[in-house]
Amino acid sequence: MLATNGRMKIAIQRSGRLTDDSVNLLRACGLSFEFQKQSLYSPCRNFNLDILAIRDDDIPEYVQDGVADMGIVGENIIRERNAKVEVLETLGFGGCRLMISIPQRSPIRKIADLRGSRIGTTYPNILKTFLKTNKVKAEVIELSGSVELAPSLDVADTICDLVSTGTTAKMNGLKPFCTVLESQAVLIANPAILRDKKKKPDIDRLSIRLKGSLEARGKRYLMMNAPVQSISRIKEILPSLKSPTIVPLADPNLVAVHSVVAEDVFWDVMEKLKKAGATGIIVVPIETIIQ
Ligand code: ATP
Ligand code: ZN
Repeated sequence: MLATNGRMKIAIQRSGRLTDDSVNLLRACGLSFEFQKQSLYSPCRNFNLDILAIRDDDIPEYVQDGVADMGIVGENIIRERNAKVEVLETLGFGGCRLMISIPQRSPIRKIADLRGSRIGTTYPNILKTFLKTNKVKAEVIELSGSVELAPSLDVADTICDLVSTGTTAKMNGLKPFCTVLESQAVLIANPAILRDKKKKPDIDRLSIRLKGSLEARGKRYLMMNAPVQSISRIKEILPSLKSPTIVPLADPNLVAVHSVVAEDVFWDVMEKLKKAGATGIIVVPIETIIQ
């Protein structure tokens, strides 16, 4: 049992695909801490929070049992462990799919064709549920790693494994067949602490900061000058959720227009704005958006 020191604890992956994004997200929330992979605890200097660095597989149980109050982990692990935790937020990183892959020359065409197949996986529970839902009787071979090698070693006929690009499977003579689960990293909490009057205010504070930095992700703040007669055209171009801010300038023929624009449409919008008569366009990054 870990020592409790009255401080809130958030569990993140110690070393792996989710580590950097988790640490960056917490830093974007204004938390100041030193993160050392060797040490279990990293205390935050400016928040009542300790960061607990552990294996991702242990995170759902730690949060469920209240050893950690919150955690950042892939949905795939939560589902596999069937952990009783509350999902507070999807975080937009760690995206991957749990997929069934089959040998390149396999005659399998539809899910029903998996009948009788030996499917190797480290996700037996999710896979069993999937097979049951699809009413397919197949043999689930529980493996502990290197799943993609199972067909060449004749331990399994097909595999069910996490992929983001599919190159590992391809290198082993396999091709993707069907998606069992889409997953990404989520923020989870122990259900009881959400009702804990002492902890709830700090969890809410952290939640607001997190939402703010997630909301700001991929967005830029645009400022420009525009002739008064272009205002309606510019309003049409700006795809902002809320109406843009329009400020009068010393020159009565001009206004300043401010708006938030998503990164993916940013250049299109800039070109159109210029055509519509906007000048002096300034673009600044956004750190957080508090609604
Ligand atoms: P640990 O030592 O913490 O147990 P691990 O080897 O189990 O690490 P990683 O490979 O670092 O875990 O993956 C962590 C999580 O990252 C996965 O559970 C999944 O949610 C996500 N992920 C994103 N892309 C992929 C991918 N291509 N393959 C595997 N996991 C991925
Ligand atoms: Zn793991």
